[in-house]
Amino acid sequence: MKSLENKTALVTGGSRGIGRAIALAMAEEGANIAVVFAGNREAAEKTAAEIAEKGVQARIYQCDVASAGETEAVVKQILDDFGGVDILVNNAGIVRDTLLLRMKEEDFDAVLNTNLKGAYHMIRQLYSHMMRKKSGSIINISSVVGLMGNAAQANYAAAKAGLIGLTKSTAKELASRGVTCNAIAPGYIRSDMTDALPEKAKEAIVSQIPMKHTGLPQDVANLAVFLAGPAASYITGEVIRVDGGMAM
Ligand code: NAP
Repeated sequence: MKSLENKTALVTGGSRGIGRAIALAMAEEGANIAVVFAGNREAAEKTAAEIAEKGVQARIYQCDVASAGETEAVVKQILDDFGGVDILVNNAGIVRDTLLLRMKEEDFDAVLNTNLKGAYHMIRQLYSHMMRKKSGSIINISSVVGLMGNAAQANYAAAKAGLIGLTKSTAKELASRGVTCNAIAPGYIRSDMTDALPEKAKEAIVSQIPMKHTGLPQDVANLAVFLAGPAASYITGEVIRVDGGMAM
């Protein structure tokens, strides 16, 4: 039997990059997938089609995770469509990089609202559902930047560090109810987000990675599948790096 058979996973930002790899890997293990995306419907449809080819259910939902109202509506819809949610992956994220001195309040707020508050909204919307079921797995995609800080990413680092506090607090609140909550801290993973970096910046980052190469979305997806499955049922409140040794 596949490790996630008969489970439903809700993956925010599941249409592209790391979220897409997580959605596909969980589908490969038998999970039905609800893909939440922000605006790129074409990418979401393409990912959903690939998921469905694996013989599981796949549906896409447009929702801004930063919005309390939209997350409430979308979670209701997903619960109706799938009959429940077993796995929540808070992966949706954005960057608005610049030095703190130049960082506008709207750029600080946008990153905090999407990357941190988005996860808070989604967990809150599924909290009672998972508590009542006495099972569930929540996986928050943080970053090594949340552990180390990074110049020109004060907003992003604050959000990703905040996600670690959110993860541990959620884990403590829900542990006795059979719900786990863990964080993954990826290093430099190839995706649209990192492809946008200037060549010089990419080289500088790679030089700081002990393994001397970037990671792939699949590297993160492998861990997400493990954390969502029965083999990780006694792991909660943990933060695991997938970074080629970058932040050790
Ligand atoms: P990406 O390729 O830019 O994909 C971002 C995904 O998030 C897309 O599916 C996007 O949907 C969705 N999204 C963005 N804002 C949203 C919102 N407000 N509401 C709902 N969905 C939203 O990013 P990625 O590189 O795969 O990163 C995924 C996660 O991993 C992020 O949290 C990022 O911070 C984290 N991470 C990435 C790296 C890395 O090296 N790539 C390293 C550490 C951590 P649309 O396509 O519809 O816009």
